[in-house]
Amino acid sequence: MTIREDTSASVDLFRSRFGAQAVTPDDVDYDAAREVWNAMIDCHPAVVVRCRTMADIVSAVALCREAGAHPAVRAGGHSVAGLSTCDGVVIDLTSMRSVDVDPHRNIARVEPGATWADFDAATGAHGLASTGGLVSTTGVAGLTLGGGIGWLQRRYGLACDNLIGADVVTASGDIVHASDDENAELLWGLRGGGGNFGVVARLEFALHPVASVYGGMMLFPLARGRDVLRAFRDWAAELPDDASMLAAVMTAPPEPFVPADLVGEPALGIVGCWCGELEAGESAIEPLRDLAPSVDLFGPMPYPALQGMLDGGAPVGLRNYFRTGFLDALDDAVIDVVLEHGAHLPSPLSQIHLHQMGGAVSRHGANAAFGNRTAAYTYNLVSTWVDPAEDPTHIDANRALATALEPLSTGRAYVNFLSDEGEARVRAAYGEATYERLARLKARVDPDNLFRRNQNIVPARS
Ligand code: FAD
Repeated sequence: MTIREDTSASVDLFRSRFGAQAVTPDDVDYDAAREVWNAMIDCHPAVVVRCRTMADIVSAVALCREAGAHPAVRAGGHSVAGLSTCDGVVIDLTSMRSVDVDPHRNIARVEPGATWADFDAATGAHGLASTGGLVSTTGVAGLTLGGGIGWLQRRYGLACDNLIGADVVTASGDIVHASDDENAELLWGLRGGGGNFGVVARLEFALHPVASVYGGMMLFPLARGRDVLRAFRDWAAELPDDASMLAAVMTAPPEPFVPADLVGEPALGIVGCWCGELEAGESAIEPLRDLAPSVDLFGPMPYPALQGMLDGGAPVGLRNYFRTGFLDALDDAVIDVVLEHGAHLPSPLSQIHLHQMGGAVSRHGANAAFGNRTAAYTYNLVSTWVDPAEDPTHIDANRALATALEPLSTGRAYVNFLSDEGEARVRAAYGEATYERLARLKARVDPDNLFRRNQNIVPARS
């Protein structure tokens, strides 16, 4: 029995245990409870179970087993593929958002519904930080479990590399602690293997002394894109690990700091963070300044301010489609494809992101399921628009660019940016050896694949 086949009896199970915390289509806040970041995703859950405690999560998992339901697990709700919702049971963690900082041990203990805004506010109060997402409304849990690209990554590794412990409610209803000393294989899987191994009810992170950074954004007209991107590539390749950079093809926004003749025109953005000494950061940025950008917002700022700088460009409720891949180099052939397609993005909201990898990311491989450690860049092709009637236009344009980049890429993918692209693509994302190891772990902790509403690792057959 799935919850769709006997909805009313199953929903009653959740109602009787959770009362008003179980939101159903009859409730006034149902539409708010079912909304996720990507408006392309329009699921109608039979029940959204708002968990407030670890005990709630244990009960919700037990009831899913009883109801034969394969739950979606929702943290920040930013899965572009819509994996944090479904038409059955949603285990909603958004009421569990506390972040406890131990400034003596440089550790943060985080509830699973926290966003990066919650995390950065709590850790920033102590002048501490850990690698988090570039948009602060994103969930700590989903982003970390898939890997976690962020502004501190080349200095301190990905978000998942800083995950030092986790409490997981497994499919059997047990609470299992994972650390490097206890259930180390599970911790390995949680560092990049996504939500495949149960509901992560608490996460523990290593923190680092990061208060102010030298960061910001520059904009150039895209007409200068070839020269600027080549110069950026050569400059970025020599940067120390204190710097993590992003090159983005975009449309110049109608902001007061953008020259009038650039507003609404295709532009190349260079966005980044230097987390070392501020004076050294200013010197490091100098060669980019010599390129005479049309906009230069780089300067010293509190790290949490940088973390919120791009929030306005990623509001909830727009239609979105992403494609992703890794590059060994930002060579001229890649630059040509990016500029050719970037000059004709069919929406002013769409962007092409080239995330600089390397540094500490390349040194953390052994203890994390996130592979792809040798890539120089991750690309994310971000299509964003408003009108559902335009879906084919934007999706087709995105796929055309993805197809053009594919032969230039490593063939792998970053699971957190994957759309619903099927099992073969999930396998390819990890590579065969890592996928097989994840599948063996999955067979141990979730042999019946209860948690399959994710970039799914199919349990290995013994
Ligand atoms: P959710 O949609 O809530 O969850 C995503 C997945 O994780 C689902 O499969 C869900 O089941 C699973 N999951 C979530 N919480 C748990 C849990 N506690 N236990 C078990 N499974 C769980 N990625 C980066 O690496 N760096 C970025 O800078 C970045 N920026 C982004 C900006 C935007 C605007 C968006 C939309 C995405 C961005 N991403 C980024 C991708 C992001 O990492 C993924 O979308 C990620 O899944 C979001 O996590 P979430 O908690 O918000 O998502």
